[in-house]
Amino acid sequence: MLKAPVNRIIPFSNVDGPGNRTSIFFQGCPFNCLFCHNPETIKMCVSCGKCVETCPVKALSFDEQGKVVWDETKCVQCDSCIKVCPNCSSPKIRWLSVPEVMTQLKRSLPYIDGITTSGGECTQYNEFLIELFAEVKKLGKSCLIDSNGSFDFESDPRVLEVSDGVMLDVKAYEKKWNDYLISFDRSLILKNLEYLLKVNKLYEVRTLIFPDRDRENEETVRHVAEMIGDKCFYKIIRYRPFGVRENYLPVLGEFTTEEEYANRYVELARSLGAAKAYLV
Ligand code: SF4
Ligand code: SF4
Repeated sequence: MLKAPVNRIIPFSNVDGPGNRTSIFFQGCPFNCLFCHNPETIKMCVSCGKCVETCPVKALSFDEQGKVVWDETKCVQCDSCIKVCPNCSSPKIRWLSVPEVMTQLKRSLPYIDGITTSGGECTQYNEFLIELFAEVKKLGKSCLIDSNGSFDFESDPRVLEVSDGVMLDVKAYEKKWNDYLISFDRSLILKNLEYLLKVNKLYEVRTLIFPDRDRENEETVRHVAEMIGDKCFYKIIRYRPFGVRENYLPVLGEFTTEEEYANRYVELARSLGAAKAYLV
C-alpha cells in the first residue's frame, strides 16, 4: 500500500488557506532555503543514531535492520533529537497510508473547511496526494497544496484535477538572489506561476521580505504582482529569524523585517494591480 512520510498533522489551522483547515506536513524537500523555519523537515533520516543517545525518555531506538525508530507513546516532545541532528532531519516521522491519514482526520473533519498539504514539499508524494485528495473530496472538503514550486504541474496535472488550488512560494525573481537563497533553479517555479494562473489553480503566492534588500525585494514583488493582478491572493511575509538555523543567522540577519518597510511592498504590489496583496 502506498505510504508517505508524515512529519506532523495540525488538526486546526487558520493560516494555511481559507477557513479552518487541517494541515498535513510531509517530510523531505529538494530545496535548502537559508531562511527555512523548520529545517528538520528538509531531509530524510539516515539513522546515524546521534539523536538516540540524547533522548531523555528512551523514545528512540534502533530496530533489527539498524534503522532509528520513534516510539510516539514515550515521546515528551522535548525536541532534543531535532536540535542534535546534523542532517536537517527528524526521527519523529510516521510512514502513513491514505486510510491511516483519513483515520487521523476523522476527529477534525466535522469542524474544518478542508485540508492543506505542506512540508517539506508535499508534491514529492504526488501519487499519495492524488489518492488522499480523492478521499477528502468525497466528504465535501476542499484540498489545497502548499508548494515551493519544484513540481512540474504542467507535465503532470493529475493532482490539480483533484485539488482546489496551490499556494505557491515565489521566493526570489532575480536569479542570483534566488540561487543564493534556495539552492534550486527558479525556472520551474516561474513556469508554475504562469501555468497555475492559466489553469485557474493559483490560490495564493507568497514572498518573504528581507530587511535592507530593497532591489531584490522590489524585483520579486514587481514581477509577481504584474503577473497575478487580482486573480489570487498575494501574501507578503516579513522575514522572522525564529527557527532559522544558527549558522545562517549572521548571513540573513537576526531581526524581523520592520512592518513599515514590508508594507512598502504591499503598497507596491497593489499599485501594480495585485489588489489582494496583504501583509503577515
Ligand atoms: S534524526 Fe538525525 S540524528 Fe537522528 S538518526 Fe536520523 S539523521 Fe541521525
Ligand atoms: S522529542 Fe521525543 S523523541 Fe525527540 S528527544 Fe524528545 S522525547 Fe525523545
